[in-house]
Amino acid sequence: MYADIIIDITNEKLDKIFQYTVPKELEGKLAVGTEVLVPFGKGNKETRGYIVGFSETPGYDPAKIKEILAVPGESVGIETRLVALAAWMKESYGGTMIQALKTVLPIKRKEREREKKTLVLLVSPEEGEKRLRWYQKKNQKARARLLEALLSSPRLDYDLAREKLNITPPVVRALEEDGLLLTESSRVYRNPVQAGRKAGRQIAYTTEQAEAIRRFSEDYDRGLRRTYLVYGVTGSGKTEVYMAMIRKVVEAGRQAIVLIPEIALTWQTVLRFQRMFGDRVSILNSRMSAGERYDQMQRAKKGEIDVMIGPRSALFTPFPRLGLIVIDEEHEGSYKSEQVPRYHARETAVERARLEGAGVVLGSATPSLEAFYRCERGEYVLLRLPSRAGSGTLPRVRVADMREELKKGNRSIFSDSLRELMADRLQKGQQTMLFINRRGYAGFVSCRSCGHVIKCPHCDVSLSAHRGGRLVCHYCGYERPMVRTCPECGSPHIGGFKAGTQQIEEMVKREFPGARVLRMDADTTRRKDGHEKILSAFGDGEADILVGTQMIVKGHDFPNVTLVGVLAADMSLYTDDYRSAERTFQLLTQAAGRAGRGEGGGEVVIQTYSPEHYSIETAARQDYEAFYEEEIRYREIMGYPPAAHLLAVLLAAQDEEKLTTASAYLKEFAARLGSSGQLAVIGPASPHVGKVSDVYRKILYLKSEKYGMLVKAKDRMEQYIELNRGFRDIRIQFDFDPVHSF
Ligand code: ADP
Ligand code: ZN
Ligand code: ZN
Repeated sequence: MYADIIIDITNEKLDKIFQYTVPKELEGKLAVGTEVLVPFGKGNKETRGYIVGFSETPGYDPAKIKEILAVPGESVGIETRLVALAAWMKESYGGTMIQALKTVLPIKRKEREREKKTLVLLVSPEEGEKRLRWYQKKNQKARARLLEALLSSPRLDYDLAREKLNITPPVVRALEEDGLLLTESSRVYRNPVQAGRKAGRQIAYTTEQAEAIRRFSEDYDRGLRRTYLVYGVTGSGKTEVYMAMIRKVVEAGRQAIVLIPEIALTWQTVLRFQRMFGDRVSILNSRMSAGERYDQMQRAKKGEIDVMIGPRSALFTPFPRLGLIVIDEEHEGSYKSEQVPRYHARETAVERARLEGAGVVLGSATPSLEAFYRCERGEYVLLRLPSRAGSGTLPRVRVADMREELKKGNRSIFSDSLRELMADRLQKGQQTMLFINRRGYAGFVSCRSCGHVIKCPHCDVSLSAHRGGRLVCHYCGYERPMVRTCPECGSPHIGGFKAGTQQIEEMVKREFPGARVLRMDADTTRRKDGHEKILSAFGDGEADILVGTQMIVKGHDFPNVTLVGVLAADMSLYTDDYRSAERTFQLLTQAAGRAGRGEGGGEVVIQTYSPEHYSIETAARQDYEAFYEEEIRYREIMGYPPAAHLLAVLLAAQDEEKLTTASAYLKEFAARLGSSGQLAVIGPASPHVGKVSDVYRKILYLKSEKYGMLVKAKDRMEQYIELNRGFRDIRIQFDFDPVHSF
């Protein structure tokens, strides 16, 4: 028996695993994560290490493999549990043990003195393509090269671009002057949470809040550690409930982690936690340097804080006695990692809590299908907060059928009802938010006259328009030519869906010349604090209308906003993946939640070409459960998560022909792995971006009702790939139950 051992886990390299033999007397006493003493290096210096895996075969000459000396046998440290968590992540999500360890363990890095610069694309892909053709025509090769790179990856490391693309500073400046890109420098925030005053504040919990807190506390006192879903509309007082639960845990001498998507983590939220827990709270955010993050992690380990608030990566805070993990807005896509290991924070939190003997509390106004499904099956405990706790009533929602507007001859982006309400608000001195539901690539094709959308006959997701006039399914690879007229009604008004925040801002100004308009999107929030500045200006009443993407729907309370307009609800409805209806429901519900946070209540207008679509209908009624029932039925029929599981296998190579052959072989191999009915293989298809800087990509999907079946399939595919020469120059990545499209 051999053990794989990692020696210095705080080393920034963290890339070597050494094999040792397990002596007879230790057999059966070791597990993944166990701390051991081993002879290391030339002098066989007695050194501490952690076991990260076992094997029965030696990796090299058995005579040269040294033996484990002993188990130090003190109390089990936090590292042991984190290493075990990493092993679980490697197993459940693929990737190497090293990649998993690097995700989970806080690593000390030497600070680089130099500022890190990033080049950020400022224009839409369409506009970029247009400029690209222009540069190419003018034979401005370096500019074209840089723009092309930015079009396939809108955030580029500056140093990397200089080195690998051979781009000089004048070229960067030229694109900057053309308004195509922006250079961003990473900045450092000192002291994330300054020592603040605790304020003894008493609120009288609503009956529902009190009930949720009581259920949790009773379970906790009885030693029951479970996963709870706090399902409550925006403003129902979920945060107050989390804080009460955390206080319970902290008073018992344990610590808590609070995950909040970065964009929703407002200064107000930090203050609320600080008022209850004083400076025993810390936060993590992506703008902190590696060194600062490491410092915060060390403070947690040393017991200097009780509560850590942060985005996904805060899940790995090395608290000595973790008691609770809270995941707010648990439905958010940002909880799924886009890097290997592609873990989901929700599932990983449940596993970490199991290893630590902690509880998990999830919260959302629009729970993920996954979380609600587990509640229905009795795996999670559902805690409901059905009404708003503070001031404010739920808004009135109406749906504007844009097909009717077209029939009436209204070709503007505003329906008559939205225009009238906006004029009314301007006159009353109240504020309006216009929300454009814009996602990365809305490549779908739809009919403006009847709302028909071209879908894949096999996968029931929208087809995407690709270059060269083809419509492609990103799951199975089905293709058909672009349509000129609507197959349903014959109308020629069929095509892609395009609208940007900037155009909308201009149209608002044209329509309402006296109105003061602010815009918030990726462009206007690039600068430091850009996001906060715009929101506080709007909150201060410096504008009448705020136009923005989904980022305006998160977090902030604006009591003077009495109207919310959703301009293109269909944009997220027909993205090319199975989660599009769910995402639409979430976005619409949250957008609606922005109206009427004050006394007067508010109104919401949802503009759409598909008013009869269930996700729009149920969002208009603010009826999550009706939405859930429809959606889970679709997932069950089509075999999509959470009713079944999906494993995406992404293949990438420079040689297109080799890639095509390899994907076909891998598909065949995968198809033989499970008997029919247990495992289905779909594809290979070309993903959204079929080629990234000269690397071609293909994707295969495996579907099974059993997650374990997919894990096994992944292991077998890995072995197959390793033994097969045809895969030598092909990079392969796995993504279980993918959240982001490729
Ligand atoms: P959520 O997290 O569900 O959006 P919050 O906890 O932020 O809700 O509460 C929304 C607002 O209502 C906050 O201003 C909060 O202080 C207030 N609030 C919450 N619970 C109560 C309560 N029991 N009594 C009075 N105000 C409350
Ligand atoms: Zn039509
Ligand atoms: Zn398909």
